[in-house]
Amino acid sequence: MDIYSGPVFDMARTQFHRIADYLEVPADERDRLLYPKRAIAVACPIHADDGTLKVFQGFRVQHHLTLGPTKGGTRFAPSVDIGEVAALAVWMSWKCALAGLPYGGAKGGVTVDPYALSLRELEALSRRYMQEMIPFVGPHTDVMAPDMGTNEQVMAWFMDTYSMYQGQTVTEIVTGKPVATGGTLGRREATGRGVAYLVERAMDRLGAPMTGATAIIQGFGNVGSITAASLAARGVKVIGVSDHTACYFDAKGLDVPALLRHAAATGKLAGFSNELAADPATLLARKCDILIPAALERVIDAGMAARIDCRVLAEAANGPTTPDADEVLAQRPDIFVIPDILCNAGGVIVSYFEWVQDLQQFFWDEAEVNDRLYRVLQRAFVQVLDRAGRDKVAHRTAAMAIGVAKVRDAKKARGLFP
Ligand code: NAD
Repeated sequence: MDIYSGPVFDMARTQFHRIADYLEVPADERDRLLYPKRAIAVACPIHADDGTLKVFQGFRVQHHLTLGPTKGGTRFAPSVDIGEVAALAVWMSWKCALAGLPYGGAKGGVTVDPYALSLRELEALSRRYMQEMIPFVGPHTDVMAPDMGTNEQVMAWFMDTYSMYQGQTVTEIVTGKPVATGGTLGRREATGRGVAYLVERAMDRLGAPMTGATAIIQGFGNVGSITAASLAARGVKVIGVSDHTACYFDAKGLDVPALLRHAAATGKLAGFSNELAADPATLLARKCDILIPAALERVIDAGMAARIDCRVLAEAANGPTTPDADEVLAQRPDIFVIPDILCNAGGVIVSYFEWVQDLQQFFWDEAEVNDRLYRVLQRAFVQVLDRAGRDKVAHRTAAMAIGVAKVRDAKKARGLFP
């Protein structure tokens, strides 16, 4: 039992020990690799629109400083607690190391339902959260980014709050900012574009065409919606989508541009159609070629893993598949899993490009961003598949092992500090 204990961190811990067993990491090295370097909890008071004072709990966990600053998103969601944030920080570490980025993992969040806040309250909370974090973050210490419930606008408020404190504009303190405030072209689309790119690589390996293939996507926020658009652009038929307000299914293929327009105009899927409404509880189990969880953790448990009926499981969300489900999937070699730390790495890869551009004040065009993104993803994809083939292990084991081994080697070479 420790402060992180809970369903999400317990999952990260179980996964880590499986990898540590496979890599034969001795017992006395394990806690050092797994446990976060720092965990910060803050109170974020704001004046609510109704005149009352409201206090929200905020967190930031910095997993390790071995390879450079820590890097990670900020989640505004009711589920946020220190254990969830720590698990996301740990996964972020293995993800950055797998992609070859000079970062440790971090994650932050506020326990709040962002959909229940007015725009003014969201700004107040975002600014207060960053203000409370100023002593603990910095462009060479810990760099924030968006995650569930936060977006480009929130990043602009973070950057502005930090810059006011410094007395100068410090664009490199956050990534995922609007392009007008030092963001990079292609960051907003990066995660979804990366997912679609890797799905194409996976389908290629299976000898299956993208054109006419069917896809189901859970979650229609930044990642889910861009993934849908990128897959549709490759000729994939998106037959099912859901968000926290609605779920739609059409075996003939949904009208993705119309869904995107509706979500952009209303901020949600609800209200798009009555005829196409479907049961969200069974969406993931419906037959399709490409299944993409792009919302929450732990949606594919052992029971769901036995029921899913797809050729490619592309984990766009962080931690959608439980360790129990992995055991079931190990008996289902018919399913090609693109594990989360590879599948959604496009986001942090382009965040890294944004940070590099901000530090140099030298900006790239979108074609250069995308070209470099696909090269990094392709390299990681090939490494994971080669390792999985060589050692006859699952793709997740291979991906995490590459990440964990990189962090471990650097810690060994450096000493005890980071
Ligand atoms: P977002 O806030 O933009 O969207 C989240 C989506 O999930 C929304 O459509 C919301 O309605 C939906 N959702 C929430 N609860 C749901 C439920 N019960 N059923 C179905 N849908 C539900 O967040 P995002 O940035 O798109 O992040 C989605 C996932 O991708 C998260 O796991 C996040 O950690 C991961 N991720 C995001 C990025 C990024 O660059 N934004 C990068 C890597 C990984």
